[in-house]
Amino acid sequence: MPQIHTPYYLIDESRLQKNLEIIRLVRQESGARSVLALKCFSTWCVFDLMRQYMDGTTSSSLFEARLGHEMFGKEVHAYSVAYSAEELDAVSAFANKVIFNSVSQLKLFRDRVHGVNVGVRVNPGVSHSHYDLADPARRYSRLGVSNYEELQDVIGLINGMMFHFNCENDEVATIAAALESIGARYAPLLERMEWVSLGGGISFTKEGYQLERFCAVLKEFGERYGVRLYLEPGEAAITDSTELVTTVLDVVHNEIDIAIVDASVEAHLLDHLIYRTSPRLASPGAGSYPMMVAGRSCLAGDIFGSYELEKRLKIGDEVRIADTAGYTMVKKNWFNGVAMPSIAVRRLNGAVELVRSFGYEEYKNTLS
Ligand SMILES: *Cc1c(COP(=O)(O)O)cnc(C)c1O
Repeated sequence: MPQIHTPYYLIDESRLQKNLEIIRLVRQESGARSVLALKCFSTWCVFDLMRQYMDGTTSSSLFEARLGHEMFGKEVHAYSVAYSAEELDAVSAFANKVIFNSVSQLKLFRDRVHGVNVGVRVNPGVSHSHYDLADPARRYSRLGVSNYEELQDVIGLINGMMFHFNCENDEVATIAAALESIGARYAPLLERMEWVSLGGGISFTKEGYQLERFCAVLKEFGERYGVRLYLEPGEAAITDSTELVTTVLDVVHNEIDIAIVDASVEAHLLDHLIYRTSPRLASPGAGSYPMMVAGRSCLAGDIFGSYELEKRLKIGDEVRIADTAGYTMVKKNWFNGVAMPSIAVRRLNGAVELVRSFGYEEYKNTLS
């Protein structure tokens, strides 16, 4: 393996492939297609592999949609919470489906999209999320059409509906129950659709997930309303495929031992800060030495977590942060001007490739 300087994200294609195999199985058993949610993971150096297992991409903006079109290919679902007219014109040139977030956007722009399949996001008022911040059915939610009559009035203008109502949901029972209630509420509208997307947030690639039941539930729903089903996995597609590899730069003591590594939670794993969660360590392993691992930005709370480790960390040791593919690289930033992690891939044949590194010029060019 070539010497790659830390910090770097290391994407492991074999681990990625495990998730992708499950996605393919779900497609075979349930008939549901899967499109990758680019807002979770847009690191296109592994799209050649992902493309073999998935049906395309879904997006939250013009740029994501364009990236999906250019680098992934296959189906391009273009959703946006709000389009400008210019963006809509640009996106309609290559999207297969344009999904509007509201009835007003649908009415405003329906005639501008020609030859593109059109859908609307529906807010079913039910959701499964552990965090209010990420709950699309929270009070006053602007995400999707929540008024049934409003939707009914424009049903002739659309070919499909998108429901995104889960976040890290690992229980099939709650999906089954939600689909029951969505079915009961929207049956007359669903029957008129060509396709229905169930969005993302379903942890179906997780160890122990009841896949057989999941596929049966999807198949039954699709057949009942005569619609093609889509899933939009983000996290599920790439979960546990990537590590953030860092080096300890200093060890300080303030009541406890604190290792400072050459990466930052705020700049490189921002979601852990937002959701107040702590990543697992891939190495060193667990043991009896209590140690805090912290980032090198000047934010006081730039802390990966507190761990019991097999050894006391010292300067120069490597620390690998586990499960760092989703909502990480897409959110990395130049806060504090700290060195941005490179991107490396362990290919299926075991060879490790440094794909991209970032230097002072990239930092400078994000501003002027
Ligand atoms: C965020 C999002 C997804 C992907 O969610 P995951 O939790 O990463 O699977 C899919 N569809 C829509 C509309 C989203 O907003």
